[in-house]
Amino acid sequence: MSELSELYQQVILDHNKKPRNFRKLETANHSAEGFNPLCGDHLTVYLNLEEGAVKEISFEGSGCAISKAAASMMTQALKGKSKQQAESLFKEFHGMVAGDSVVSDEEDASDGLGNLKVFSGVREFPVRVKCATLPWHTMHAALNNQALISTE
Ligand code: ZN
Repeated sequence: MSELSELYQQVILDHNKKPRNFRKLETANHSAEGFNPLCGDHLTVYLNLEEGAVKEISFEGSGCAISKAAASMMTQALKGKSKQQAESLFKEFHGMVAGDSVVSDEEDASDGLGNLKVFSGVREFPVRVKCATLPWHTMHAALNNQALISTE
């Protein structure tokens, strides 16, 4: 197997070049800042939660291609989701990239992840796992009214 699939590269490079929802959200009622000291990724996730659902979500900051693409795709995946759905996607995503979920190829329990599956290749690169999960940890912190998180 090639070290990174072509799909993985294309999607991640595209989101890195043109990050979606990359702005400060003026209407945010939740936000958190996340750091990954290992790589230098630093981002802020903004959420507008209304009636327990993610009405708007955005991010800003700087970091490597993986962290930026992960944040961009996360904002797309979470818009319109309930707080519970967001938390369960976070768990699925984390399980997929950190390799701590037992998912057989036959019965893929990560189906809810959709195109976020391009990040499954990150599992092969332990130092990159924190880059991919940083936006999710930060989103999780924002949902739970924590202001600052560090992956260290
Ligand atoms: Zn990084």
